[in-house]
Amino acid sequence: MITIKVTLKNLSSLTVAGGSTISSIDIPLNPLVLPPSSIKGAMRTAVSHAINVLGLLDGEYTSCGEIKPEKLKPCDVCSLFGYPNSKDSGCFTIEVDRKEVKRAYITRVSIDDKTQTASEGSLFTQEVIPTNNEFSFTIYYRCDLRLFKLLLYSILALRYWKLGRNSMIDVKVENTDEVCKSISCDEEVKSILSQLSDYMWG
Ligand SMILES: [Zn+2]
Repeated sequence: MITIKVTLKNLSSLTVAGGSTISSIDIPLNPLVLPPSSIKGAMRTAVSHAINVLGLLDGEYTSCGEIKPEKLKPCDVCSLFGYPNSKDSGCFTIEVDRKEVKRAYITRVSIDDKTQTASEGSLFTQEVIPTNNEFSFTIYYRCDLRLFKLLLYSILALRYWKLGRNSMIDVKVENTDEVCKSISCDEEVKSILSQLSDYMWG
């Protein structure tokens, strides 16, 4: 088992929705604030995008894009993240540290796509976590070195992706030395870990 301690910072206001609709707020925060499944989902989409759309990772890894998860030969992304709608959680689980967060409320106007003007009666209130909040979470990994590298790339890919309702985020790994010791840390892993050792966007 390899343990990775990650800190995540939201660079714009963050809302992971999915809360109860019995609320005076139109878009409340998720009761878990930052559900592990949302982090995992963002990592999965971000790394699939890097593989399939951006053509990164030199064809080393495959991603089926969840189009045919029933395919006989599983792709690397499904092996690492597990299959959608199945109990298989793949190669790792995430635990988010609980903490109290500041909440703020913003009122927005929906814009009519056709006329590009505000739709009438379209004000809505959204609950947000203000910019520059830090969250800690821990990843528990249990597969081989090859997929471990894909996991590290998935964390890196979060910096170019979005979380919840379009929030930009940055991430860093707090225990890079420990991670390096717990696997046979080659040059590639060293290089990714050094990129992850501090925030990229500052
Ligand atoms: Zn797949």
